[in-house]
Amino acid sequence: MPNSSQPQVLIVGAGPTGLMLAIELTLLSLSVRIIDRATATKRQARAGVLWARSQEALAELGVIDKFLDFAHRLQSTHIYINGRKIGGLEYGSTKTDYPNPLCIEQHDTERLLAESLANLGVEVEWEKEAIGLHAHDDGAEITLRNAQGEEETIATQWVVACEGTRSAIREAAQIPFEGERVTNLQTLQVNAKPTWRFPKSTSHGYFFLKENVSMLGFSMPGDSYRFCAFASDPTPDVKTPPSLAEMRDLVAAVTYMPELQLELTAPIWLSRARFQNRIAATFNKGRVLLVGDTAHAWAPIGGHGMNTGLRGAYNLGWKLAAVERGEAKSCLLDTYTIEQRANAQTIIEANNSNVMEQPQPYHKLRLMETFMPIGLSLQPVRRKIEFMLSDLGMEYRNSPLAWQQNASGSLHAGDRIPNVPVVSGNGQWENLHRLTSIHHWTLLLRTKDSEIVERAYESAGRFRSKIKVATIQPMDRDSDRQLGRDGQMFLVRPDGHVGFIGSVNDYSPLVKYLDTFLVRL
Ligand SMILES: Cc1cc2nc3c(=O)[nH]c(=O)nc-3n(C[C@H](O)[C@H](O)[C@H](O)COP(=O)(O)OP(=O)(O)OC[C@H]3O[C@@H](n4cnc5c(N)ncnc54)[C@H](O)[C@@H]3O)c2cc1C
Repeated sequence: MPNSSQPQVLIVGAGPTGLMLAIELTLLSLSVRIIDRATATKRQARAGVLWARSQEALAELGVIDKFLDFAHRLQSTHIYINGRKIGGLEYGSTKTDYPNPLCIEQHDTERLLAESLANLGVEVEWEKEAIGLHAHDDGAEITLRNAQGEEETIATQWVVACEGTRSAIREAAQIPFEGERVTNLQTLQVNAKPTWRFPKSTSHGYFFLKENVSMLGFSMPGDSYRFCAFASDPTPDVKTPPSLAEMRDLVAAVTYMPELQLELTAPIWLSRARFQNRIAATFNKGRVLLVGDTAHAWAPIGGHGMNTGLRGAYNLGWKLAAVERGEAKSCLLDTYTIEQRANAQTIIEANNSNVMEQPQPYHKLRLMETFMPIGLSLQPVRRKIEFMLSDLGMEYRNSPLAWQQNASGSLHAGDRIPNVPVVSGNGQWENLHRLTSIHHWTLLLRTKDSEIVERAYESAGRFRSKIKVATIQPMDRDSDRQLGRDGQMFLVRPDGHVGFIGSVNDYSPLVKYLDTFLVRL
């Protein structure tokens, strides 16, 4: 859709989250403009991995193939403590079409997203900075300044701030960014080609632990490795980036390879960063919405900063489109804040208790050296860590948008619908994700009774939003365990999370649910 001078949505910031949101809204037929004060896509490495759930979202938006072609697919991580290999993690067992983490530099992620957006007819408007906001009940006016210092004002229905942690829009909307600085933790990063004892591989990563330091080393596209260290921070006043020699010494120390050499690769990425744990008081205030680092920020422990922003954009896009198109009530946008704030809090708590990546003192490391080999030798433990990293378990169970009655399977309202095999109404074998789509809600019925199915069509057909109806039968024991007994129904949201679980014998709770959030025909 071409840029219109008065778009339905103005996105401020063309980082990964702004670009992702622009793609989704454009696919959902909203007119979008996306501006950024930078001259072009940044050349900063920053986030280096796309986890499974982000890949599923990119696939749903039709842009994953570019990433699969370009990125390195991670198959395993070898883990070392004090120079001794104590175990490893393998990837590929999670039930998704995208089980392997993708290693890709953030600027490449942004480049591929910007290309995908351009293919949909929307170009990023570079060198435009948002400097003023006037928001009211029906929309907002944003003042922009270009590189020549000229100003223009854009009227829009909605403004979405995807500006990173320092946000002019969040400040103008007077939304507090609550939290505090993370103390005694610094992140040191370099992109470099190592000469070391390990074989060259694009699919195996390394994780090294030493007293007061943890370091990840992953092969990146472009014949480079990303070395990312979390270290204690005895000199918080030192702001300068580390030198190549310092990073070489650090990598040599954690790998116990004194002869190791590092050669910088392009773009040069030598970074020292400290972080804050912060969450905005709300992510939606009238016509102003916040996504990504503007809404939440933390240290990149676990590599979930950008991934959470991408999932947030994915969560917001269909809700905003439904409200703007008059298909949903504005309370749907409140659920975006509730769900993403809860996810952000979960991640900050997980980061604080992440003993693997938080730098550990000598005595704790000795304990880990003793017990981690035992834990990592157990497949269920390795699978659990893999699942946690994938973000596939990120749920919205406590959301007002999650209702359930007598659910008998392990699946809860708010969970991502699993990609389990089912037999659908036409007798075909399908993975569940083939039935759901960002373009509609999906009502899945565990019944073959045609009268009951007819009633489902009648209930779903009362609303402006498209609700597709499909019957399913589990194909194997795992899908049976997750979907519970016969006679249940699952209403799946456009983003693939379960909104409602109930009985096919009574549609009144479902209609009450839909009446709460959606608009009738
Ligand atoms: C040193 C460092 C290392 C990191 N490492 C990792 C990692 O390993 N893994 C991970 O997951 N995450 C990591 N992160 C976090 C990750 O980079 C962020 O979570 C991610 O960039 C957030 O994306 P975003 O689109 O919300 O914001 P950003 O990427 O910050 O993009 C914001 C965009 O908005 C533009 N902008 C800002 N203000 C305005 C304005 N007023 N008008 C117009 N344009 C504006 C900026 O130019 C920018 O392009 C790291 C961050 C840093 C700083």
